[in-house]
Amino acid sequence: MVLVGVLALQGDFLEHLEILRELGVETKIVKKPEDLSTVNALIIPGGESTTIGSLLAIKGLGEHLAKHIENGLPVMGTCAGAILLARKVVDRVVGETNQYTLRVMNVGIVRNIFGRQRNSFITNVEVENVGVVRAAFIRAPGIVEAWAPARITGYVEHPAVGRVGAVAEQNNMLALTFHPEITGDKKIYQYFVSKIKR
Ligand code: GLN
Repeated sequence: MVLVGVLALQGDFLEHLEILRELGVETKIVKKPEDLSTVNALIIPGGESTTIGSLLAIKGLGEHLAKHIENGLPVMGTCAGAILLARKVVDRVVGETNQYTLRVMNVGIVRNIFGRQRNSFITNVEVENVGVVRAAFIRAPGIVEAWAPARITGYVEHPAVGRVGAVAEQNNMLALTFHPEITGDKKIYQYFVSKIKR
Protein backbone atom coordinates (compact mmCIF):
# COMPACT_ATOMS: atom_id res chain seq x y z
CA MET A 1 0.00 0.00 0.00
CA VAL A 2 1.37 3.42 -0.90
CA LEU A 3 1.18 6.40 1.44
CA VAL A 4 0.62 9.69 -0.36
CA GLY A 5 1.42 12.91 1.48
CA VAL A 6 -0.33 16.20 0.80
CA LEU A 7 1.56 19.38 1.62
CA ALA A 8 -0.75 21.25 3.99
CA LEU A 9 0.71 24.72 4.54
CA GLN A 10 -1.90 26.72 2.59
CA GLY A 11 -4.36 26.14 -0.24
CA ASP A 12 -6.50 23.28 -1.45
CA PHE A 13 -4.99 20.38 0.50
CA LEU A 14 -8.26 19.07 2.01
CA GLU A 15 -9.81 18.46 -1.42
CA HIS A 16 -6.78 16.43 -2.53
CA LEU A 17 -6.92 14.35 0.66
CA GLU A 18 -10.61 13.66 0.03
CA ILE A 19 -10.07 12.47 -3.56
CA LEU A 20 -7.13 10.26 -2.60
CA ARG A 21 -9.24 8.69 0.15
CA GLU A 22 -12.09 8.10 -2.31
CA LEU A 23 -9.57 6.23 -4.46
CA GLY A 24 -8.67 4.08 -1.47
CA VAL A 25 -5.18 5.57 -1.15
CA GLU A 26 -3.61 6.03 2.31
CA THR A 27 -2.85 9.70 2.97
CA LYS A 28 -0.74 11.79 5.26
CA ILE A 29 -0.79 15.51 6.01
CA VAL A 30 2.69 16.98 5.53
CA LYS A 31 3.63 20.11 7.46
CA LYS A 32 7.10 19.44 8.86
CA PRO A 33 10.34 17.93 7.50
CA GLU A 34 9.80 14.74 9.60
CA ASP A 35 6.44 14.14 7.93
CA LEU A 36 8.24 13.42 4.67
CA SER A 37 10.17 10.45 5.97
CA THR A 38 7.33 7.91 5.60
CA VAL A 39 5.51 9.08 2.46
CA ASN A 40 5.92 7.35 -0.92
CA ALA A 41 4.74 10.39 -2.89
CA LEU A 42 3.58 13.97 -2.37
CA ILE A 43 0.98 16.36 -3.77
CA ILE A 44 1.69 20.09 -3.62
CA PRO A 45 -1.71 21.82 -3.85
CA GLY A 46 -2.82 25.00 -5.52
CA GLY A 47 -3.24 28.16 -3.49
CA GLU A 48 -0.81 31.04 -3.38
CA SER A 49 2.69 30.11 -4.44
CA THR A 50 4.36 33.03 -2.66
CA THR A 51 2.69 32.06 0.64
CA ILE A 52 3.40 28.33 0.33
CA GLY A 53 6.96 29.12 -0.78
CA SER A 54 7.62 31.45 2.17
CA LEU A 55 6.28 28.83 4.61
CA LEU A 56 8.42 26.12 2.97
CA ALA A 57 11.48 28.33 3.47
CA ILE A 58 10.66 29.41 7.04
CA LYS A 59 9.98 25.87 8.24
CA GLY A 60 13.13 24.46 6.65
CA LEU A 61 10.87 22.10 4.75
CA GLY A 62 11.74 23.36 1.27
CA GLU A 63 15.37 22.28 1.25
CA HIS A 64 14.45 18.90 2.64
CA LEU A 65 11.65 18.42 0.13
CA ALA A 66 13.82 19.45 -2.85
CA LYS A 67 16.36 16.77 -1.84
CA HIS A 68 13.66 14.10 -1.54
CA ILE A 69 12.32 15.02 -5.00
CA GLU A 70 15.82 15.00 -6.50
CA ASN A 71 16.25 11.53 -4.97
CA GLY A 72 13.12 10.32 -6.79
CA LEU A 73 10.12 11.05 -4.53
CA PRO A 74 7.11 11.13 -6.89
CA VAL A 75 5.50 14.57 -6.72
CA MET A 76 2.45 16.16 -8.33
CA GLY A 77 2.25 19.95 -8.16
CA THR A 78 -1.06 21.56 -9.10
CA CYS A 79 -1.33 25.26 -10.03
CA ALA A 80 0.66 27.05 -7.27
CA GLY A 81 2.23 23.60 -6.70
CA ALA A 82 3.48 23.57 -10.30
CA ILE A 83 4.96 27.04 -9.80
CA LEU A 84 6.78 25.75 -6.70
CA LEU A 85 8.43 22.94 -8.69
CA ALA A 86 9.68 25.17 -11.53
CA ARG A 87 13.23 26.31 -12.07
CA LYS A 88 12.07 29.52 -13.81
CA VAL A 89 9.11 31.66 -12.71
CA VAL A 90 7.96 35.08 -13.83
CA ASP A 91 4.65 36.89 -13.39
CA ARG A 92 2.80 38.03 -16.52
CA VAL A 93 2.48 41.59 -15.18
CA VAL A 94 5.30 42.19 -12.71
CA GLY A 95 7.94 39.95 -14.31
CA GLU A 96 10.61 38.59 -11.98
CA THR A 97 9.12 37.91 -8.54
CA ASN A 98 12.19 36.42 -6.84
CA GLN A 99 9.87 34.18 -4.86
CA TYR A 100 11.03 30.99 -3.15
CA THR A 101 10.51 27.86 -5.26
CA LEU A 102 12.00 24.36 -5.02
CA ARG A 103 13.69 24.72 -8.44
CA VAL A 104 13.65 21.02 -9.22
CA MET A 105 11.78 20.81 -12.52
CA ASN A 106 13.09 21.94 -15.93
CA VAL A 107 10.16 24.16 -16.80
CA GLY A 108 9.61 27.87 -17.24
CA ILE A 109 6.32 29.17 -15.87
CA VAL A 110 4.44 32.45 -16.26
CA ARG A 111 2.17 33.16 -13.31
CA ASN A 112 -1.36 34.45 -13.88
CA ILE A 113 -0.91 34.01 -17.62
CA PHE A 114 -4.68 34.21 -18.33
CA GLY A 115 -5.20 37.29 -16.14
CA ARG A 116 -7.01 37.84 -12.89
CA GLN A 117 -9.50 35.82 -10.82
CA ARG A 118 -12.39 36.78 -13.12
CA ASN A 119 -10.51 35.26 -16.06
CA SER A 120 -10.70 31.82 -14.43
CA PHE A 121 -12.36 29.04 -16.45
CA ILE A 122 -13.07 25.31 -16.71
CA THR A 123 -12.19 23.36 -19.84
CA ASN A 124 -11.00 19.95 -21.09
CA VAL A 125 -7.31 19.20 -21.44
CA GLU A 126 -6.01 16.24 -23.41
CA VAL A 127 -3.14 14.78 -21.40
CA GLU A 128 -0.68 12.23 -22.81
CA ASN A 129 -1.03 8.82 -21.10
CA VAL A 130 -4.10 10.05 -19.21
CA GLY A 131 -6.83 11.12 -21.65
CA VAL A 132 -9.20 14.07 -21.49
CA VAL A 133 -9.21 15.76 -18.08
CA ARG A 134 -11.80 18.26 -16.86
CA ALA A 135 -9.65 21.10 -15.56
CA ALA A 136 -10.33 24.26 -13.52
CA PHE A 137 -7.92 27.11 -14.28
CA ILE A 138 -7.99 29.59 -11.41
CA ARG A 139 -5.57 32.51 -11.74
CA ALA A 140 -3.59 29.80 -13.44
CA PRO A 141 0.00 29.89 -14.60
CA GLY A 142 1.18 28.62 -18.00
CA ILE A 143 4.09 26.33 -18.81
CA VAL A 144 5.89 28.27 -21.53
CA GLU A 145 9.03 26.15 -21.85
CA ALA A 146 10.36 22.76 -20.84
CA TRP A 147 13.80 21.34 -21.44
CA ALA A 148 15.03 17.75 -21.18
CA PRO A 149 14.30 15.64 -19.31
CA ALA A 150 11.07 17.63 -18.76
CA ARG A 151 8.36 17.56 -21.44
CA ILE A 152 5.03 19.29 -21.91
CA THR A 153 2.36 16.57 -22.11
CA GLY A 154 -0.84 18.63 -22.24
CA TYR A 155 -1.92 22.00 -23.59
CA VAL A 156 -4.84 24.34 -23.07
CA GLU A 157 -6.27 26.35 -25.98
CA HIS A 158 -7.21 29.81 -24.78
CA PRO A 159 -9.14 32.24 -27.01
CA ALA A 160 -6.95 35.22 -26.12
CA VAL A 161 -3.65 33.73 -24.99
CA GLY A 162 -3.44 30.84 -27.47
CA ARG A 163 -1.93 27.42 -26.88
CA VAL A 164 -0.21 27.15 -23.51
CA GLY A 165 1.41 24.22 -21.70
CA ALA A 166 -0.85 22.91 -18.93
CA VAL A 167 0.85 19.64 -17.96
CA ALA A 168 4.52 18.70 -17.83
CA GLU A 169 6.39 15.61 -16.73
CA GLN A 170 9.97 15.00 -15.73
CA ASN A 171 10.68 11.50 -14.44
CA ASN A 172 9.13 11.46 -10.94
CA MET A 173 7.61 14.96 -11.30
CA LEU A 174 4.21 15.92 -12.67
CA ALA A 175 3.14 19.57 -12.93
CA LEU A 176 -0.44 20.68 -13.68
CA THR A 177 -1.34 24.33 -14.06
CA PHE A 178 -4.97 23.62 -13.17
CA HIS A 179 -6.97 22.24 -10.24
CA PRO A 180 -8.11 18.63 -10.75
CA GLU A 181 -9.53 18.55 -7.22
CA ILE A 182 -12.14 21.20 -8.09
CA THR A 183 -13.73 19.34 -10.99
CA GLY A 184 -13.15 16.06 -9.12
CA ASP A 185 -11.80 14.35 -12.26
CA LYS A 186 -9.86 11.43 -10.80
CA LYS A 187 -8.00 10.30 -13.95
CA ILE A 188 -4.86 12.31 -13.25
CA TYR A 189 -4.73 11.00 -9.66
CA GLN A 190 -5.03 7.42 -10.93
CA TYR A 191 -2.17 8.09 -13.32
CA PHE A 192 -0.04 9.64 -10.55
CA VAL A 193 -0.71 6.75 -8.19
CA SER A 194 0.09 4.23 -10.96
CA LYS A 195 3.45 5.94 -11.45
CA ILE A 196 4.25 5.52 -7.75
CA LYS A 197 3.65 1.79 -7.79
CA ARG A 198 5.66 1.30 -10.95
N1 GLN B 1 -1.90 32.64 -9.10
C1 GLN B 1 -1.49 31.79 -8.02
C2 GLN B 1 0.00 31.89 -7.76
O1 GLN B 1 0.69 32.50 -8.51
C3 GLN B 1 -1.81 30.34 -8.28
C4 GLN B 1 -3.29 30.15 -8.27
C5 GLN B 1 -3.72 28.82 -7.89
O2 GLN B 1 -3.01 27.98 -7.32
N2 GLN B 1 -4.98 28.61 -8.14
O3 GLN B 1 0.47 31.37 -6.80
